[in-house]
Amino acid sequence: SMRTSGLIGGMSWQSSKLYYERINQLVADRRGGAHSARIILNSLDFAEIARLQSEGRWKEAGAILANAAQSLERAGADVIAIGANTMHKVATQVMASVRLPLIHIGDTLAKALRSEARSRPLLLGTRYTMEDPFMIDHLANKGIGALVPDKADRDALHAIIYGELIKGIVTDKSRDAVLAMIERSCAHEADSVIFGCTEIGMLFPPTEAGLPGYDTLDLHAEALVDFALS
Ligand code: GLU
Repeated sequence: SMRTSGLIGGMSWQSSKLYYERINQLVADRRGGAHSARIILNSLDFAEIARLQSEGRWKEAGAILANAAQSLERAGADVIAIGANTMHKVATQVMASVRLPLIHIGDTLAKALRSEARSRPLLLGTRYTMEDPFMIDHLANKGIGALVPDKADRDALHAIIYGELIKGIVTDKSRDAVLAMIERSCAHEADSVIFGCTEIGMLFPPTEAGLPGYDTLDLHAEALVDFALS
């Protein structure tokens, strides 16, 4: 038997297609034969979400995700996942709207970091994820003290995510810029790097980050498959 994953996607669709592929590949690897994942994808229009984010209207954005979660619940999903880091800022609001469990991206991340004794990871993500405390606090509650890049790097990374990666644009210039940010973090004794945005892996794989890399998309997809097959 296999449980059905309910994925709230479209944040952005570039990463939703990676979630779809990873989840199916993991099920195929683990079950063999012609097996593939049971997934219900509720893919949102990111323009609406991005606008509410930039205007600081998180409650309204959260309500859109809560509605999406409820419709996944009605459609027969057994578990909910928000396919992005940033919108975990409203994870509590989404969780409160359904009876189903929610697999939190920050929990899967903290578990992976702790299992390899990383205590000082560099957190890369949108400006919201790097500057609002929701993800940093989530990690701090589990004993992990995340670092973030300096202001100029945070702004540059945010611009790369919203200006390029969500549109499927991958350039050498941006790849080099992000690698340079990681390199600079070594001076602050980072022991690892978190791909805390589900589009960062489009630039280069975590194995090529120069520090031990933790891609939240990979970890989240794996946690969903662990749940679905358990
Ligand atoms: N997918 C991204 C993340 O993991 C950024 C897009 C968004 O703001 O949802 O945070």
